[in-house]
Amino acid sequence: MSLRYGCICYAVPKKMLVHLASQSDGEEKQALLDQVHHSTHLRGRRAAASSGRVSLGKPGEKVLHRQVFDAQGRTFLPGKLLRDEDDPSTADKIADQAYENVGIALRFFDTVLGRDSVDGKGMRIDATVHYGFGFSNAMWTGEQMIVGDGDGRHVSNLAGSLGIIAHELSHGVSQHLVRGGLGVVQMAGQPPALKGEAGALNESFSDVCASMIKQWHAGQGVDSADWLLGEDILAAHAGKAIRSLKDPGNTRATWAQDDQISDYRRFAPTDDPHKGSGIGNHAFYLAAMELGGKSWETLGAVWFKGFDKLRSRSTFLDAAHATVDVAGDLHGKNSVAHRAVKAAWRQVNVLN
Ligand SMILES: [Zn+2]
Repeated sequence: MSLRYGCICYAVPKKMLVHLASQSDGEEKQALLDQVHHSTHLRGRRAAASSGRVSLGKPGEKVLHRQVFDAQGRTFLPGKLLRDEDDPSTADKIADQAYENVGIALRFFDTVLGRDSVDGKGMRIDATVHYGFGFSNAMWTGEQMIVGDGDGRHVSNLAGSLGIIAHELSHGVSQHLVRGGLGVVQMAGQPPALKGEAGALNESFSDVCASMIKQWHAGQGVDSADWLLGEDILAAHAGKAIRSLKDPGNTRATWAQDDQISDYRRFAPTDDPHKGSGIGNHAFYLAAMELGGKSWETLGAVWFKGFDKLRSRSTFLDAAHATVDVAGDLHGKNSVAHRAVKAAWRQVNVLN
């Protein structure tokens, strides 16, 4: 399962690390540039564990299974086991934050979408913290989550960011929803990468789920939500957030070189998947604002079941048709939800 996938999905786009490096010098600059080309260096990966649960939850509550490991500043995976499910909190705040945030994301998928862990079968989620030295990223490897401490100057608090952790966990969900991975392209001599429309849809799925998870955890309605991701990991000089679903590519709301788009007519197949993802992100935002209330209540199942119909090379048009169809099936043809989803994909110029 995981070997066929093997795609590394990063929370902080390469372009942002390059930009931060351009504002630095000396060792700091080199450290950031080294991380841009990190993806080939993962060592000691192991097969993902299937269930193997040991804990008993409260009645009526699904059992979670998380394990948090400490890479101790090195890059060997998974590292030393720090906290298993049901273990008491550790003396390590970052490990406990990762444990809690993985738990919140898993509970969202279970209680809101009926999804038992990323694979639908209760897969144990392994997360390695303190990965590398000053490593300014978090990622999903296809097998586990990896969380760096950040360099402390530009980027920090990755484990403490629910949006970042939820985004990465959602890559694990889409990996299992779409056979072969949504937009995962294998190229000779290179690590697998997310490409084209399907790759942008993959990133968008993670952003949309992360936004819903943040709002669900905070009990927020669509009007009071900030619709930002990564707003809690950047130093003030580095930017305000990594992405905005409300206004993709608005550098005043995010960071200096944010080039996300929300208009499908501007999409180019060679774009970074974090750029084109703004199209799907903004479609979700528009539909959610039209419906009002809580984003996950009506649209959560629509988006999840819609993306469940996609294939590894699906297009934005496929995603639009799939989510519109599901909205019609779940809420009725011409229902408010059906019309809102259709109108949203029209506004981003995917549907005519
Ligand atoms: Zn991602």
